[in-house]
Amino acid sequence: MRPWRKLFHNKQKTMAEIKCIGILTSGGDAPAMNAAIRAVTRAAIYNGFTVKGIMRGYRGLITGEIIPFKTQNVSNIVQQGGTILKTARCKEFQTPEGRQVAYETMQREGIDALVVIGGDGSLTGARIFASEFDIPIVGLPGTIDNDLYGTDTTIGYDTALNTIMDAVDKLRDTASSHERLFLVEVMGRNAGFLALNGAIASGAEAAIIPEIMTETDQLGELIGNGFRKSKNSSIVLVAESELTGGAMGVAERIKKEYPQYDTRVTILGHIQRGGSPTASDRIIASRMGEAAINALMEGQRNVMIGVQNDELVYIPFTKAVRKDKPINRDLLNTLKILSI
Ligand code: ADP
Repeated sequence: MRPWRKLFHNKQKTMAEIKCIGILTSGGDAPAMNAAIRAVTRAAIYNGFTVKGIMRGYRGLITGEIIPFKTQNVSNIVQQGGTILKTARCKEFQTPEGRQVAYETMQREGIDALVVIGGDGSLTGARIFASEFDIPIVGLPGTIDNDLYGTDTTIGYDTALNTIMDAVDKLRDTASSHERLFLVEVMGRNAGFLALNGAIASGAEAAIIPEIMTETDQLGELIGNGFRKSKNSSIVLVAESELTGGAMGVAERIKKEYPQYDTRVTILGHIQRGGSPTASDRIIASRMGEAAINALMEGQRNVMIGVQNDELVYIPFTKAVRKDKPINRDLLNTLKILSI
């Protein structure tokens, strides 16, 4: 494993002082979070640690809803969507007082280190918590959005992409029976990875993504290219985002500027978060879960586990959450060429 930065200070808790590791899942849920919980638990127990499962993200640290975990607590979950630890959004944790209570709970429970599985917000919370108290924290990128810097993929992204592909395949059957423009809104927060790769995977006409919103009029370009000349119907994936306006925003614009088109909007919504995880997600979640325990044993702290070119890496929280992850612009061209 290639450490991006050695983060080891004498004053801080060393591996020898870590006896009990707490795990939590926080923020938006993602498929294969369970595979990650299983891997963290089993790798920790294998290496002689005790494990506690913290319910409902940071809220569990405030309410004290914490369960001792044995290997059997994580049996039969690798294939399940959702998270057995539940997840939540916790406002109190965003205040210094709330984090003080969380720290006191950890002390009372004898939890010496944390593994936080979540997205951008959850890892921001982890970064702040770790800067205020002497707690080793390792993060795992658990989000379908794939928007964390420094990792090629995130836990849940591949499953969500496959769900989008399946949904668009179904829509195509009905779309090709009529002459219509279908706008399909997919998740991704402010990132277009799901929309762009989902469009390529499902053979959609185009994707409207936030990353290039300010430089290109993506809708204008699509219409200008005469997209329906050779086709009965067209499917365009739109990333949910204030920048794109979402599928409804794009539909409004078409109604005003191109009223000749018969447009339909489908918002895929929360089905994108559900379902049994793909093999790829289960494997990356399992590898990252084990890597989180290795990281703690190596004295790493305040890092997210990432994957780059199939190699696991440590990304400091500050980089993972603060830097924008760029999209691969070659994919835009691929989509354009393949949709003629
Ligand atoms: P995600 O992790 O999926 O991006 P959220 O953005 O909702 O989800 O964040 C999940 C939780 O992480 C929040 O409910 C809160 O408890 C914690 N969190 C997010 N941002 C911060 C912050 N700036 N300070 C402290 N905690 C935060």
